[in-house]
Amino acid sequence: MHPLKTPNSCYYCLSSPTNLLSGRKLRVAVVGGGPAGSSGAEALASGGIETFLFERSTSIAKPCGGAIPLCMLDEFSLPLYLIDRHVTRMKIISPSNLTVDFGSKTLKPHESIPMLRREVLDSFLRSRAQSSGAHLIPALVTHLEVPSSSTEPYIIHHTSNNTKRTLAVDVIIGADGANSRVAKSIKAGNYTCAIAFQERIRLPEEKMEYYQNLAEMYVGNDVSPDFYAWVFPKCDHVAVGTGTVCSKPDIKVYQRGIRERVSHKINGGKVIKVEAHPIPEHPRPTRVRGRVALVGDAAGYVTKCSGEVRKNVRRGDSEGLGGRGKDAREALVEICGDEYVQRMTFDSYLYKKLANGDRWEDVKMVLNTIGSLVRCRIVEREMEALKVNEASKSNHLPIASAVSFLTW
Ligand SMILES: Cc1cc2nc3c(=O)[nH]c(=O)nc-3n(C[C@H](O)[C@H](O)[C@H](O)COP(=O)(O)OP(=O)(O)OC[C@H]3O[C@@H](n4cnc5c(N)ncnc54)[C@H](O)[C@@H]3O)c2cc1C
Repeated sequence: MHPLKTPNSCYYCLSSPTNLLSGRKLRVAVVGGGPAGSSGAEALASGGIETFLFERSTSIAKPCGGAIPLCMLDEFSLPLYLIDRHVTRMKIISPSNLTVDFGSKTLKPHESIPMLRREVLDSFLRSRAQSSGAHLIPALVTHLEVPSSSTEPYIIHHTSNNTKRTLAVDVIIGADGANSRVAKSIKAGNYTCAIAFQERIRLPEEKMEYYQNLAEMYVGNDVSPDFYAWVFPKCDHVAVGTGTVCSKPDIKVYQRGIRERVSHKINGGKVIKVEAHPIPEHPRPTRVRGRVALVGDAAGYVTKCSGEVRKNVRRGDSEGLGGRGKDAREALVEICGDEYVQRMTFDSYLYKKLANGDRWEDVKMVLNTIGSLVRCRIVEREMEALKVNEASKSNHLPIASAVSFLTW
């Protein structure tokens, strides 16, 4: 019998509290069985640590677009059968429907953006953690008791099927996502979050054909004031979604916006799932306290440059500059047509490292960017704004926006 089934006598439970590291293995609880928690649990268990992985819902995955950087396949040894689609073409579509093809010319033959379903990835990673020796506990962690001394254990309170239990552990990894209870328990502080909304829509076969290896990203006030909306292909359906930080109560309005923009492509489709979730904007003030560490979304480890692009897209609108936000997005999409910008974007997104730029190409990119900004009347308006308001000196749409446009 699993020791947790006898709560008052078992080795793991409160009635036999642990003495830290007295001739036994270190005992770690990982709270949250998403990608961060499961891969953490696998690494700990493989390293000989007694590992408990708590997951409140093993059958339903957290909402996610499911696009992953190519390097993750090797880094996390992910088998190819997990991947629904290998996206080799991306379209970026401006408010005026200017469409830029991203990838068809710049991706190398072996490159693509893998798309998967999180329910598939998460259950694979959890099983692998179990195979490495982690104990999966399908339960909701309700709260932690933080010890007053460094030799006492942390007590995890968890519940499953109306049964409450406790577990004493030496170390806790909080991988319980953006609404982390572990973070609250250790008073890790807050972060701002974007809210993302997504519908999974099963399309008739002929419509699905269009999205075979294609993902689309839409920008414009109708789909989000500060983010972008997407259509990502999955096995037999597409994920259509959007996000915003600055206008969260309107998220459903933006979702209607993206549905309208793609209506001719998704007509006849059937919504099979509706999901929404916060996305952290930046790290929490505290990520480690005592013997508790936060990882993944619980820690707020977002890709910094994706925050950057949101901030810059947002700037164009939130300052009441009328059409400038729209023009900024037109310019952004135009800049994305540049092959060098695309290559830099793919190098940094697919391989998650700073791309090595070429000095002359950088200069050309600056000139092209200025050209786009002039064509979209951004520079002219910026100059006007500069004259009027000294404070707007730094409000230029940075070139980096285009390079960081794709990244999560
Ligand atoms: C709509 C949307 C689209 C996105 N699209 C992309 C994308 O295309 N590509 C990309 O890279 N990123 C995307 N992201 C971001 C990505 O989903 C997250 O960064 C990622 O899921 C973080 O992984 P994690 O393991 O840290 O946390 P999570 O995936 O949130 O996992 C946390 C886990 O902890 C469990 N849990 C929570 N609380 C408890 C508790 N008290 N007890 C027990 N278990 C608990 C949850 O059930 C969950 O399984 C998207 C996010 C959203 C919301």
